[in-house]
Amino acid sequence: MAGTAPPTAVWSNWAGNQHGTATAVLRPTSVAEVAEAIRAAATTGDRIRVVGSGHSFTGIAVTDGQRMELTELDGGTNVDTERRLVTVPAGMTLRALNDLLAAHGLALPNLGDIDAQTVAGAISTGTHGTGAAYGCLSTFVAALTLVTGAGEVLRCSAEEHPDVFAAARVGLGALGVLVEVTLRCVDAFVLLAHERPARLRAVLDDLPALVDAHDHVEFYWFPYTDRVQVKTNDRVPADDRPLSRLRGWLDDDFLSNTVFAGACRLGRAVPALAPGISAVSARALTERRYTGRSDRVFCTPRRVRFVEMEYALPRDALPTALDALRRIVDRLPFKVLFPVEVRFTAADDIWLSHGYGRDSAYLAIHQYVGMPYEPYLRAFEEVATELGGRPHWGKLHYRDAASLAPAYPRFADFLALRARLDPDRVLTNPHLARLLGP
Ligand SMILES: Cc1cc2nc3c(=O)[nH]c(=O)nc-3n(C[C@H](O)[C@H](O)[C@H](O)COP(=O)(O)OP(=O)(O)OC[C@H]3O[C@@H](n4cnc5c(N)ncnc54)[C@H](O)[C@@H]3O)c2cc1C
Repeated sequence: MAGTAPPTAVWSNWAGNQHGTATAVLRPTSVAEVAEAIRAAATTGDRIRVVGSGHSFTGIAVTDGQRMELTELDGGTNVDTERRLVTVPAGMTLRALNDLLAAHGLALPNLGDIDAQTVAGAISTGTHGTGAAYGCLSTFVAALTLVTGAGEVLRCSAEEHPDVFAAARVGLGALGVLVEVTLRCVDAFVLLAHERPARLRAVLDDLPALVDAHDHVEFYWFPYTDRVQVKTNDRVPADDRPLSRLRGWLDDDFLSNTVFAGACRLGRAVPALAPGISAVSARALTERRYTGRSDRVFCTPRRVRFVEMEYALPRDALPTALDALRRIVDRLPFKVLFPVEVRFTAADDIWLSHGYGRDSAYLAIHQYVGMPYEPYLRAFEEVATELGGRPHWGKLHYRDAASLAPAYPRFADFLALRARLDPDRVLTNPHLARLLGP
């Protein structure tokens, strides 16, 4: 096995709130080596956790055993332009995938806010973008190859091992190591982005019409204000309104990252200024329209570090959740420095997908690093749980197996499959033991 590092390989995630020291770092170069490592761990009673880009906020990727990284895994890519199918190594980043697809005149139908995640990491936690007609990224998966916790290599699709396919598309890394993924793509497309300030009440009053009228809708609510920034993205035939490089850098990098980071640092140092900072941030965002390649419009750089909780709610529960959230924010003994993001997705049939069986509204709450956050997250979680909410697997939450089981109709089936595919629990860690049981 190539690249086995010293046994004290420390690791932390993007947000810097999760840390772990692995007993060894495994960088397999072939599927056979992945299977061999898993079988060896089963024999010695060791554990392995595979990591992607470390962009989850929870301890889901942290290992108390060996850490596996797929950066050296030998695996080619195959782009079938006729059938619009792409097969890639599971450890490829979304950014690399987007560039590969663009070179072949293809694109993913939808994306989240960033493209730094690996394909396997993104689908394993149910990563999503926004769009009432679009499911999470896992819904684009047409087939996958998994090395199970028993070291068996399974190719899964709707036809082959359909039960594994239904579960492993949002598998939390609990069923096996994904080594290859085939994704359904669409012809490359251009998006027209429209961003505009609005009042929260007006947006909520008009919400069903707004969500139906556009391909992709999201909005950001600024705490302590009634202001939101609405963003819509729609498919258009021509890229005839591109942002100049300077304007793109100014808006998406300088204002959204550099200036915002300064504002957050000020708010952290002098919390009483936070409501004023929120109001100024909301007013600073003006209206703009521009066109661009789909992935470049969907994804923007995020350099200001934060922690996040996100809940998928039944869509009609959104106004109630937002009302409760406003009251929570006002009552907190500390201030909130980050806007709240609201997005929408379509129902799907993946067992542990947040969107299983229902259309969702996603509500994401954030806090700047170094600020207190737990009472904020816990208070919101109580409201979201009561409304039937499902926590994003990659974002902070405090739920356990007993509280998650009623939220997912196929939870027991997932546990039974896990018992079959990873009988020795080679692929578990303390976080998964909380979510799924020992
Ligand atoms: C700045 C930022 C922006 C974000 N934006 C969004 C967004 O817009 N929408 C959204 O839904 N989420 C978003 N997220 C969350 C992020 O998409 C998820 O947490 C995602 O899982 C991270 O992917 P990763 O490659 O970093 O995986 P990691 O965090 O490293 O791992 C996540 C899980 O995947 C498992 N895993 C990784 N590789 C494999 C494999 N080969 N086989 C089996 N299991 C594997 C790990 O064991 C772990 O359980 C964001 C996160 C950050 C930090």
